[in-house]
Amino acid sequence: MRLFGTNGVRGRANEDITPEMATRIAKSLGSYMKSKGTVAIGCDTRISGPMLKAAAIAGALSAGLKVIDVGIAPTPSVQYYVRDYADAGIVITASHNPREYNGIKLIAGDGSEFPRAGEREIEKIYFSGKYVTVSWEKTGEFQTDPGANAYYIKNILHSVDADLIRGRRFKVVVDTGCGAGALTLPFLLRELGCEVLTLGAQPDGTFPWRNPEPLPEALQELSELVKKTGADLGAAHDGDADRIVFIDEKGEFVNEEVLLSLMAQYVLKKNKGPLVTPVSSSQRMADVAAAAGVKLYWTAVGSINVARKMMEVDAVFGGEGNGGLIFPEHQYCRDGAMACAKLLEILAGGKRVSELTKSVPVYYNAKTKLPSKALAATMEKVKAKALELGLKTDTTDGVKLWFEDGWILIRPSGTEPIFRIFAEAKTQARAEELMKQGLEILKKSEGSE
Ligand code: MG
Repeated sequence: MRLFGTNGVRGRANEDITPEMATRIAKSLGSYMKSKGTVAIGCDTRISGPMLKAAAIAGALSAGLKVIDVGIAPTPSVQYYVRDYADAGIVITASHNPREYNGIKLIAGDGSEFPRAGEREIEKIYFSGKYVTVSWEKTGEFQTDPGANAYYIKNILHSVDADLIRGRRFKVVVDTGCGAGALTLPFLLRELGCEVLTLGAQPDGTFPWRNPEPLPEALQELSELVKKTGADLGAAHDGDADRIVFIDEKGEFVNEEVLLSLMAQYVLKKNKGPLVTPVSSSQRMADVAAAAGVKLYWTAVGSINVARKMMEVDAVFGGEGNGGLIFPEHQYCRDGAMACAKLLEILAGGKRVSELTKSVPVYYNAKTKLPSKALAATMEKVKAKALELGLKTDTTDGVKLWFEDGWILIRPSGTEPIFRIFAEAKTQARAEELMKQGLEILKKSEGSE
């Protein structure tokens, strides 16, 4: 039985994700840690957050762990705190999911996402029900630390050229969507000498301003305000602020794949070394790596796979094409606020955001999905068909086929009985054509014996 998905445990609060479950997961973590060490626990702004956090705290204490409650904090803020002050972490968050959802995410002692193998061990303990319950005098010590977010902000300031940014007195409009980033991003930007205008900057788990998912259509007001006020940049977080998206000075949404590759370009100018990104990312990253003469590693989808590979190959930068960027000089996890500070450092060089986005190669994308009754069996047939085509093929996660002028990726969804088909090419028409070809390969495989 599985408990943890791509991003911890997620579901509707008090239905799928109950306090009993939070307690049992924390007790399982305590058993896995042999009742030794400290766990830092934080949550985003969701209404069900305090309930689940209290339950997780109780479970960890009951298993003999010391607990530090860091209160409401972005996921990367808890991760940074764990790295320096704890042996593990628990974040109560459902990231970009709607308000009725919540989730539980475990953090490893180095601040990175918990390794899959560790999650499997904890699942075993959880489903066996044989978790440790210590005797009364060994129940854990408890303390709170309201300083986690300030500590996190201070360390971002040390990881960028803060003086250079301060000298430019940027005007930035931020939309933190009433999520956990409301407690960090506006304050970080003020420390960076910016004039900050805010939208959705009150922490509020009813999310009255917008959904936690920062989709372009949800950021119209942000875009308008950037234009009206002549701001240099607009920035918007998801609910737990590990991701960030940007609006340029003209009010245009910055494609996240473009952001990823322009950030890679900038990092490589100063520091040459490997890049890491999932197979679903744009060819732009390959072009940027080739132009700089560095190696690019493709991984399975999921930020943990990117982060682990980055550690392994000593990468200088990595990330996903969804606004999840990883800067190893700061920490090995997606960090929205760090990405914003880094973008300001780039802007301090004098170029505007709209000029920067034009500096990366242009590609077009198409995607679709297809329901499937037998994901695993069909996937095997797709792999066999792909090999028959004699193209360059990558089977790290699903099947990716490289053509001379583009690629197709066919992947089973991790959460639904569907296949996703992605395609990319130099023109929109060709991307659509490749997508259709991917769909054909899939349909033939689904139907064949
Ligand atoms: Mg998130």
